[in-house]
Amino acid sequence: MSSKKDIRSLDEDELKEILTINSFKSFRANQIFHWIWKKSAHSFDEMSNLPESLIKFLKDNFVINFIKVHRMQKSSDGTIKNAIKLFDGYIVECVLIPTKNRITACVSSQVGCSLNCKFCATAKLKRMRNLNPDEIYDQVVLIHQQSIEHFQRPLTNIVFMGMGEPLMNYNNVLSSIGKITSKSGLGMSPKRIVVSTSGIPKMIKKIADQGVKFKLAVSLHSAIDEKRTSIMPFNDKMNLGELEKALKYWYDKTKKIITYEYVVWKGINDRDEDIAALVKLCKRIPSKVNLIQYNSIDDPGFVQASDDVIAKYVKTLDSNKIKATIRKSRGQDIDAACGQLANKS
Ligand code: SAH
Repeated sequence: MSSKKDIRSLDEDELKEILTINSFKSFRANQIFHWIWKKSAHSFDEMSNLPESLIKFLKDNFVINFIKVHRMQKSSDGTIKNAIKLFDGYIVECVLIPTKNRITACVSSQVGCSLNCKFCATAKLKRMRNLNPDEIYDQVVLIHQQSIEHFQRPLTNIVFMGMGEPLMNYNNVLSSIGKITSKSGLGMSPKRIVVSTSGIPKMIKKIADQGVKFKLAVSLHSAIDEKRTSIMPFNDKMNLGELEKALKYWYDKTKKIITYEYVVWKGINDRDEDIAALVKLCKRIPSKVNLIQYNSIDDPGFVQASDDVIAKYVKTLDSNKIKATIRKSRGQDIDAACGQLANKS
């Protein structure tokens, strides 16, 4: 592993400063940025509009770390799962999800995860490290390229629902979104980005203060504290009361409604009291509910509730004027669905 600095860890002003100190023209920073962010150059030799002396200087002082596809699998429904290798050998996964009107990239934000949601395969992996902004950005670029190659249309949406907890890697996630949305990067609209969090109250307030423009999804799964703690143990320290305060703060600041992600399991959250608690919570803060299909991780304690129970959830939410959608699983045959990303390769 090289000890040279990854050039993509610098912002443009920092690079300008380094160039000027070393007697290169500062406008070169802009050209270099174009190569590393717009054109995804993997080597300094590709940078054909730079003088040789500058290319040598860059090679002597920097590296360009990039992700490599370690394994690609295509599901019978068109979903593509990539296991990608990072510069230090760690592997994370990202998924392309095609539908009629959209191509969605589901990206990872950490190697492993530090939270311990009992129903999630990624939780079985220890958190090894945070992904760098360029490693997150590269997943999006990769999926955009695969989208053109396999589906002849560009990527339309991005969800931070891969491995890791995005708000536990808040700086790098925000910085990657900055690049994804900036003209010098991919120029995508932040409205097409959803950051999904298991619900870290402090961090939700923090991003609300930053005036971010992306959408927020919260993995709720239960609106009753004891139940939520039993399936998402960190809820013990950051309980629903705290979460609700943070979400209210988010809504007041951003005026963006929150999506609750919610899986219904047999014997866990399939009773009338569970539905009633969810309705009550939804009424207090503008929100909608996305009922996600459970993707088995081979734990007998978790079994998807029957269609009747799900229908009851939808009906009750509907009659209380709360929007509810049912999200079908994609890519289950290749373990690419929500909560199944765990580096089986
Ligand atoms: N850490 C973030 C993002 C990653 S998980 C979060 O918790 O939101 C993305 C979504 O998949 C979350 O809503 C999560 O609760 C859900 N999920 C996890 N395991 C699942 C499983 N086995 N089946 C269905 N959804 C699952």
